[in-house]
Amino acid sequence: MLFRRRSQGSLLRHTEVPAAITECFILSGYRCLGYSFSDCLFSAFQATNETGNFWTHFLAVFIFGYHCVDFFWQQDAAAGFCLPCFDPFYYPFWTYVAGVCGLLIVSSMAHLFSSMSMVIREICFCVDYGAISTYTVGSALAYFYYINPWVGSSPQLPLNAYNQLDCWFEVLYIPLCCLVALFCTLACCHTRRHWQKQCYLIRTLVFLLPFTLVSLPIFCRLLVTTSWDSTQSLATSFFRHCLWLAASAAFNITKIPERLSPGKFDIWGSSHQCFHFCAFMSILEELRMIQGEIEGLENLLRPPTFLSTFGVLLLLQGFIAFMVCWLVLHYSSKGKKLETN
Ligand SMILES: [Zn+2]
Repeated sequence: MLFRRRSQGSLLRHTEVPAAITECFILSGYRCLGYSFSDCLFSAFQATNETGNFWTHFLAVFIFGYHCVDFFWQQDAAAGFCLPCFDPFYYPFWTYVAGVCGLLIVSSMAHLFSSMSMVIREICFCVDYGAISTYTVGSALAYFYYINPWVGSSPQLPLNAYNQLDCWFEVLYIPLCCLVALFCTLACCHTRRHWQKQCYLIRTLVFLLPFTLVSLPIFCRLLVTTSWDSTQSLATSFFRHCLWLAASAAFNITKIPERLSPGKFDIWGSSHQCFHFCAFMSILEELRMIQGEIEGLENLLRPPTFLSTFGVLLLLQGFIAFMVCWLVLHYSSKGKKLETN
């Protein structure tokens, strides 16, 4: 099937581009495939249907960075400002920051460069799923070191039961989060070739799994606490974090508002931009929650090391990179042509 190719810069309607790159209820504003690197950069300043998707996550990197730096600024205002980059106490915080910044940068770049070719589009969005999965492990590392699930628990809790639970948590929590992250990357990449009609629903449901697993220390804390003084701010931030996540999932699945008025939200205000915005707001609440826990800590139950924080994240990155390369090569060799003419 031949699709019209226009000069770079002019935008196409949904009938003029391959079906694989169209979005439901978005009728115009598509960039044609075959953009060069500089065309893609230039398109960030044009009104296309990817412009809002790019800026909602690209600008978010700076807002997130500001909130991170401001936290240390407030803490050390009297002593003089300095970022504790090499203090092992903050290693889990920096792995969390790396996970969030990775997610935001990869997501914005995927939207910006996805019009170079079908192969690059596939790689961009598979790497994007990998970055979301990596972010979940970054969160897990921050929760593991900073959120003590048993703070304020009832003294009646049998000591043996407590020790056993803590033992299981210490041994299994991070490895399971890593395995689930790999599974999520694989499943989401798979939806780009299979179950395409339900792909948004499946991807959202798939990411419920790491959310539930990663949030286990918080669920435990909320369940066992008898002292709400020490848990109230954590509970408030976590509740807001969940509300924003639910809103982002609702936009992603329902495709509202463009479903209600196809063609009207092609450039600005589409569900994907609302999804990006709500997901970022949920991250800001999570950051607030982690910072609140750090402020209440003097030292950590489990001492973090470079290997147990950055090492875990780097190893996961290696597995995800291998998986994405393997998937793209696999689809190409199976004859499922990625390049649509
Ligand atoms: Zn996106």
